[in-house]
Amino acid sequence: MAKRIIVAGGGHGGIATGMLLAQNGFDVTIYEKNSRENMGHDWTDAFDRKAFAAVGIPMPDKSLYYLKHDITFYSPAERTSLKQSIPEDQLEINMERKDIYDHIIPFAEKAGVKFVYNCNIEGPVIEKNKVVGIKTYNGEIRGDLVIDACGANSPVRRNLPEETGIQREIGPYEQFRAYRAFYNKAAEPKDKYKVILLAEYEKGISWVVDNNGYTDVLIGKFYDFDINKANEIVDRLRPANNNIGTELVRGGHILNIPVRQPLGILVTDGYAAIGDSAFMTTPIIGSGIANTLKASKILAESLIANKDKEYTIDVLWDYQRDFYVKMGAGLAPIACIKLMISSLTGEDLDYFVDNHILTAKNMAIGAESNNIKAVAQLSTFPVFCKKMYNLFKNKTVAPKFTKMVTSMGKAIVVSAMMPRKYNKKKALKWVKNYNKCFKPYN
Ligand SMILES: Cc1cc2nc3c(=O)[nH]c(=O)nc-3n(C[C@H](O)[C@H](O)[C@H](O)COP(=O)(O)OP(=O)(O)OC[C@H]3O[C@@H](n4cnc5c(N)ncnc54)[C@H](O)[C@@H]3O)c2cc1C
Repeated sequence: MAKRIIVAGGGHGGIATGMLLAQNGFDVTIYEKNSRENMGHDWTDAFDRKAFAAVGIPMPDKSLYYLKHDITFYSPAERTSLKQSIPEDQLEINMERKDIYDHIIPFAEKAGVKFVYNCNIEGPVIEKNKVVGIKTYNGEIRGDLVIDACGANSPVRRNLPEETGIQREIGPYEQFRAYRAFYNKAAEPKDKYKVILLAEYEKGISWVVDNNGYTDVLIGKFYDFDINKANEIVDRLRPANNNIGTELVRGGHILNIPVRQPLGILVTDGYAAIGDSAFMTTPIIGSGIANTLKASKILAESLIANKDKEYTIDVLWDYQRDFYVKMGAGLAPIACIKLMISSLTGEDLDYFVDNHILTAKNMAIGAESNNIKAVAQLSTFPVFCKKMYNLFKNKTVAPKFTKMVTSMGKAIVVSAMMPRKYNKKKALKWVKNYNKCFKPYN
C-alpha cells in the first residue's frame, strides 16, 4: 500500500516535496489553514529562478516575472552608496507570491497531491514518542509521516517533546519583524533598489524599491513594533526618498521573517521539517523560497530511497545529513555574520563603509550566495589585508569581528561533525554544540 504522507501547511517546500513524492507513488495530502484564494501574501518575492528546475517545475511564462534590480546599500549615515553589480545569469527573479502558488500548485495537483484548505492544525499527534499524525480543529489525521511545512511558528514543531532535541522556539535576533507595503510611485528614484542597513541607527534594515510601478517599502526590526510606528518610520523615510507616495496601494502588514541558522535537528520518528518551520532562509537577507524548494528535492529523494522502510528517525537521518552537507553547513556560518551585524551600532557600520571594510564587491550577494563559500570569495587577498588593517584600528569593532570569526569557525567544524548515522546520545550532544555556536553578543 502507498505510504500516507501528511504535509502540514501549504508552504512552498511542502508543496514541492508532496509533488515529487506523489510522482513516485506516495499518497500525499496537504492540510492548509487558508482557503485556496488566500494562499500567499499580496507582494512580490525575489528568488533564484533555478529553484524551479531543482524540483522539475518549468519556468513560468515570462510575463509573470522580471529580473531583480541590483541593490544599492547604505549605512545609516547614507554618506556612501555600495551598488551591487550582479551578472545577469545570477540575478534573482521577482514574482508575485500568489503567482508562485498559482504556478506550483497545478503541478502538485497533476501529480495526485490532495489539498485540504481551511484546515487549522493545532499540533502533532504523538504515540510512544513517535509522531503519528496531526491534530486539527476537525479531529486527528494519521499517516506514515508528517512533513512540517507550517512556517516559522509551526504548531507542529512547537509542540514536539523536548527530548527530541528539536528547538521549539526562536531566540533573540533570530527573526525580523517586517512591515511590507506598496505605495504609489511619486517620483523617479535615484536608486531602484535601496537598502539602508541599521536604518535610523537601530537594529534592522529598511528598503525602498522601485517595484513594477509601485514603491515597495520594507521595514525590518529585531524588536516588535506596530503599524503606527511603521507609519512614522515611512514618514521619516519620505524626505530622502521622494518616490514613496502617500497612497498605500497594497500590503501594509507586519510579519516575521526568520533570519537564523537552520534548525539543528530536523527530524524525529514520523516527522521531518522543511522550509521556514526548519528555518531554512538565508540568514541576513531572509530569502527562503529557493532554499526551501531545493531542500524539498533533498527530502523527497531520501524518502523515495527509503520507500519500503518505516520512517523512524534513523531512516530520516539521511535527509538530515544530506541537507547539512548540501545546504545547512553553508547557511549556518552566515548566521554568525548576522549575529555580528546585529551587535554593531550604526556608527560601527558607518565606520565599515567609510573605511572600505565593506565595499560594493562584498555586497554582490546574488542568487547563488546562499552559502559561506560564495560570501568568502567576494574579496581578493591584498584587499582583504587592507580591510583587516582598518578594522583592527577600531577598538570597538575589532573584538566583535574576532568573536564572529571564532564562532564561524566553530559553526563550520561542528556542522561537519554531525553524526553520519543516527545515534540518540551523539545526535543530542551534537545539537547542543551546534546551538552553542549562535549566541547573541548582547
Ligand atoms: C515580508 C516578507 C518578505 C519576504 N520576502 C522574500 C523574498 O523576497 N524572497 C524569498 O525567497 N523569501 C522571502 N520571504 C521568506 C519566505 O516567505 C519564506 O522563506 C518562504 O515562503 C518559505 O516558507 P514556507 O513555505 O516554509 O512557509 P510559509 O510561507 O510561512 O508557509 C507556511 C504555510 O503553512 C500554513 N500554516 C501556518 N500555520 C498553519 C496551521 N496552524 N494550520 C494549517 N496551515 C498553517 C500557512 O498558511 C502557509 O501557507 C519573505 C518573508 C516575509 C515575511
